Amino acid sequence: MSTARDKVALGPGDALIVVDVQRDFLPGGSLPVPQGDEVVPVLNSYLATFAAKALPIYATRDWHPANHCSFKARGGPWPPHCVAESPGARVAAALALPLSATVISKATTADQEAYSGFEGTDLDARLRATRTRRLFVGGLATDYCVLNTVRDACKLGYEVMLLTDAIRAVNVSPEDGRRAEGEMRSLGARLVTLTDIGA
Ligand SMILES: [Zn+2]
Repeated sequence: MSTARDKVALGPGDALIVVDVQRDFLPGGSLPVPQGDEVVPVLNSYLATFAAKALPIYATRDWHPANHCSFKARGGPWPPHCVAESPGARVAAALALPLSATVISKATTADQEAYSGFEGTDLDARLRATRTRRLFVGGLATDYCVLNTVRDACKLGYEVMLLTDAIRAVNVSPEDGRRAEGEMRSLGARLVTLTDIGA
């Protein structure tokens, strides 16, 4: 019999997906997620756990051209952010991303937006090639790129563990983050924290 309190045992078929933990999304960046920096030490714990078990780690990143369609100058909703090769597009300095991690760049062309790490990338192909079935997803922001990545993951048939201690929301409307978590749960994602992960 299983209960919500059962520990999650990590093993073959599991992968960690770190979504968009980039300087521009942290306090001081051009599109800061409130308390976005708080996910970094928690993600470092997940990264160490997955690396110790030699499980695959993926880090998605926004990697926009300077004239990206999501920028206000083009009529989009956001200030310029994560312009490819710029300092703001770099992974957060304090994120201990191992060299073995695979970086997935998204929304890399001017007229294409991609909140999901699966959109216009080879992430799904890479996961299938390594027989990955269950994804542990954390990062920024809950109500945009985490939500859309989890939506696609569920649609593609992956089991999803949402790392609720390693996500933060933009909250353009105050309830956006909470609503996104509810949607992900209703799509089948299980909401977990570090304490739920077994050794
Ligand atoms: Zn973007």
